[in-house]
Amino acid sequence: MIDFRHFWKAVFLFGALTATSSGVAVAKEPLAKTLFGAQQLPAAIAPKSYGFYSKGCFAGGVGMAADGPNWQGMRLSRNRHWGHPELVRTVEQLSRDAARDGWRGLLLGDMSQPRGGPMLTGHASHQIGLDADIWFMPMPDRRLSYDEREQISAVSLLRRNSLYVDDRKWTPAHEAVLRRAASYGNVERILVHPGIKKKLCDTVRGDRGWLSKVRPFWGHDSHFHMRIGCPAGSPGCKGQSAPPRGDGCDDSLAWWFTEEPWRPATGPAKPKARDVMTLANLPAECRAVLEAPAPVSADAVTVDSSGAIPITTPPVSARAFAPLPAVDIPLPSARPGN
Ligand SMILES: [Zn+2]
Repeated sequence: MIDFRHFWKAVFLFGALTATSSGVAVAKEPLAKTLFGAQQLPAAIAPKSYGFYSKGCFAGGVGMAADGPNWQGMRLSRNRHWGHPELVRTVEQLSRDAARDGWRGLLLGDMSQPRGGPMLTGHASHQIGLDADIWFMPMPDRRLSYDEREQISAVSLLRRNSLYVDDRKWTPAHEAVLRRAASYGNVERILVHPGIKKKLCDTVRGDRGWLSKVRPFWGHDSHFHMRIGCPAGSPGCKGQSAPPRGDGCDDSLAWWFTEEPWRPATGPAKPKARDVMTLANLPAECRAVLEAPAPVSADAVTVDSSGAIPITTPPVSARAFAPLPAVDIPLPSARPGN
């Protein structure tokens, strides 16, 4: 039997239905995930992140090309290799630095949708162009095919049915790539499985200050999640509180090795935020982000295979992000000669 108390609570809380004066629910606001999930290209306006990592959107997105000198994009069909230019710059820099550290290249998982926002599937966060998932597998020594990038799975670093890292899979290069990512001033958090955090706690020698940024979280045993802070020029971006000082190798980590975090949830299932959020739940600017013009092409705003970012420093070049004229006048390409 339907429990109407919960039904009406849902209606009033989430505004999924709008009531007429007669009180009859008739129209349904489109879900934000539907609107943002349909975007093929970023908003060609100045780069800004709006809202919070799990409730927002962003403008002025830049794409990571499918192939770079030190990276390969995975799951290309999802169209989620977009980010605020500062995130793209950081991922690109990590790909270069990590290669020097002995990590052949990055396999890039999801970043954001072209204009961010909630996604049709997966991820509660990744909405404001400041999050990137990076596989715990270095790039192979060849270019993967499109189909391989759809089908190959990232391999867990854990032992089977265990919360602990498999020592046959863990290498010094894994520590090095995490250490490198944590070394960047704008990287605020790196999410990894608690077992991986524990491995670092047990083995990292020398400076351990960077471990404070490496936070244990569910999942994240086959990829890590790199999150940068709110970029300059994004006053509408809500940051998160700094992680506690110290290496985090304490009671807060020990909790993950108790039964509590893994206990199945009880009580009525709550809907996921992405399944109820409408545009009204997001920052007001997200409407303008949806309505903003698109760039001339994806290539014009994509970091190309030479690793060159199609922008200089913020503010982004007028060429890449000039609003499109109303008529179809060819604009200069952001990448001359291409
Ligand atoms: Zn992630």
